[in-house]
Amino acid sequence: MKNGVMMQYFEWNLPNDGNLWKQLKKDAVHLHQTGITAVWIPPAYKADEQQDEGYATYDLFDLGEFDQNSTVRTKYGTKDELIETIGELHKNKISVYLDTVMNHKAEGDYTEKFKVKEVDPKERNKDISDEIEIQAWTGYLFKGRGNKYSDFKWHWYHFSGVGFDDAQKKSGIFRILGENKYWSEGVDDENGNYDFLLCNDLDLDHPEVIKELNRWGIWVSNELNLDGMRLDAVKHMEDKFVKQFLETVRAERGNEFYSVAEYWNGDLATLEKYLAAVEKTTDLFDVPLHYNMYKASKFGKDYDLRRILDDTLVLHHPDYAVTFVDNHDSQLGSSLESEIEDWFKPSAYALILLMEKGYPCIFYGDYYGINGGKPLYQPIIDLLLNTRRKYAYGEQKDYFDHPSTVGFVRMGDKDHAGSGLAFLMSNNIDGNKVMNVGVNRKGEVWRDLTGNVQKKITIDNEGNGNFLVEGGTLSVWVKF
Ligand code: CA
Repeated sequence: MKNGVMMQYFEWNLPNDGNLWKQLKKDAVHLHQTGITAVWIPPAYKADEQQDEGYATYDLFDLGEFDQNSTVRTKYGTKDELIETIGELHKNKISVYLDTVMNHKAEGDYTEKFKVKEVDPKERNKDISDEIEIQAWTGYLFKGRGNKYSDFKWHWYHFSGVGFDDAQKKSGIFRILGENKYWSEGVDDENGNYDFLLCNDLDLDHPEVIKELNRWGIWVSNELNLDGMRLDAVKHMEDKFVKQFLETVRAERGNEFYSVAEYWNGDLATLEKYLAAVEKTTDLFDVPLHYNMYKASKFGKDYDLRRILDDTLVLHHPDYAVTFVDNHDSQLGSSLESEIEDWFKPSAYALILLMEKGYPCIFYGDYYGINGGKPLYQPIIDLLLNTRRKYAYGEQKDYFDHPSTVGFVRMGDKDHAGSGLAFLMSNNIDGNKVMNVGVNRKGEVWRDLTGNVQKKITIDNEGNGNFLVEGGTLSVWVKF
């Protein structure tokens, strides 16, 4: 992923018009020209209803091809459109990563009766009922698809828990009982055991489930000619399953098949434990960095910017860090709401796009606007992408040495004439910082590409520049 930039090509409020695949196809040339090298596309398979974003998964083998749940297409379009779009993206040297939801399934086609114990939602290892029989929507027929691609039919024993008893019309967390059946061990320990998230929780220790998902992983990667996956909700999934799943798909598609997993936890030690458990078979989103930037944006001048990279993946495990500012879950109104405030977004994007380490991911909502609103950050993101391509090369030297004005220098390299840059951001008053860009740059006149600072500066005989930044903004300095 050397110098690659990923884009998350959806947000939570897209209209249910079946147009996303067509839009993405038309956008492929522009994305390539802008510097996007990979797109993360939303869950592309049949959900419980047409308007669902795809996370309430119904049939993984229905990529908008069969009449099921009252629709052929998904929220985003049909399978044929998706295949055409991926072809166009590949023509433009853009890799495609599919959002992959294997933790749970939405309700099935018919109810089944089986034995459970209800558990305490805050302590999932604690039963709060005796053994009881419930009736839940765990039977799947896939009538519209029949046996095409797979004749596997899901039943209650392929799940480890459900969230609803239809007999009593009662919500709760019901742990399914059976031989060798319990919550998975390799999951986050929040709430005692965080295997169950919602809907019907797949039993990822069940041999039939493992076999079927592995088969699907190979099928969907071949069918769509995927370059990688974004794995949803892995903190709720058996880690041993995730590792062997990726190894299985890579055995078919090659070792370069990419993976980034969503382990939504801001604690570095937890993410390190996970990387070790899956033996680094996947990258992870840098959730600690997201939360640092979120806090920086909330606390304004009271945040100590020297700490912005503290305890982040990109600092400690740069080769496994996907850096991002916001996503569909952090955007306002979503389940993990923690959206970076407007004033700080340009600085946050500059940080992830201009720094040497990490694999940056741009959010559709920031680039194209949320809910049809204005694309407020497109100009600055375009400018930063352009800067990344032209100037962001060579060694990085950090100047995280002042509570309200921090930055770094990229020294440039021989392969990119005139490359190298100086970046500063401020969360308080106007600031300045002397940074060294190399003695070979003496006498050069540099300017701020963002236009926030109009004054030009000259590099002195030692290679130092006294770079400026306006209060509460950023500046990106390059040779004039
Ligand atoms: Ca689970």
